[in-house]
Amino acid sequence: MLKIESANKYYRNSEETIHVLKNINLDVKKGTFIAIMGPSGSGKSTLLGVAAGLDRVDDGKVLIDGEELGTKSENELAKLRSEKIGFIFQNFQLIRNLTALENVSLPMVISKKLSEKEIAERARFLLEKVSLGHRVDHFPAQLSGGEEQRVAIARAFANNPVLLFADEPTGNLDSKNSEIVLKMLIDLNKNFGSTLVIVTHDKKVADLADLVYEMKDGVLELKQTETVEKVEQEVKEVKEKIVSKKKTKPKTKSRAKKK
Ligand code: ADP
Ligand code: MG
Repeated sequence: MLKIESANKYYRNSEETIHVLKNINLDVKKGTFIAIMGPSGSGKSTLLGVAAGLDRVDDGKVLIDGEELGTKSENELAKLRSEKIGFIFQNFQLIRNLTALENVSLPMVISKKLSEKEIAERARFLLEKVSLGHRVDHFPAQLSGGEEQRVAIARAFANNPVLLFADEPTGNLDSKNSEIVLKMLIDLNKNFGSTLVIVTHDKKVADLADLVYEMKDGVLELKQTETVEKVEQEVKEVKEKIVSKKKTKPKTKSRAKKK
């Protein structure tokens, strides 16, 4: 679904060059949920940005559904994003002078696939999914942080993205709202079957992911999670059983002889 091959990115200014992504390789299979952890400033947001086609790598490749982003024009990238990608930002990034309903409608208005009536219906449906059916006409300033993030989630799902990125989606929320938002992300993700890539500091989020990666100073590594260790332990036990079965093999032989 998402493939990154030997990707590097630098930020240059007059005084210095920061090597922000260092030879990144990543292969995210369709329908999986991966979490990326790591200290602040290690390059996580930059990685999500290039993976979602919001920003470009300096060398290496980023492929979404087999399509290489580096070969696309800005317009082609915008089209691909609107058709395939949802993005949830840490600071919500809702448009202040649009209501919740209008914010969720916007990606559908841009992609021009539905009629005005269908767009309004779907926006309302999505807001109901995130339990905000009673807040459709509120502006962002009239919503709590948790509610704003739920509007942002509903907006991210507007065009049925196959690939959903979330950059510390619970980072600005209290623990109760974090839990609600997280549960919604995972439920919506399951219902719509999209692939989920979440940057998070929250161990609870990481525990729910299929795979956990760690970003350290621009280098991305697969983290040995408890689940991986558990699977390895199970494999070891099965191997041991096979070995002990082999040892008892002569018995069957002698039985065969008797026949
Ligand atoms: P994280 O999300 O892990 O906190 P970021 O990807 O935001 O890290 O940033 C990684 C590094 O790149 C930081 O040192 C940051 O200061 C720097 N950086 C991020 N964006 C820019 C930019 N647009 N121009 C220059 N430096 C940047
Ligand atoms: Mg960040």
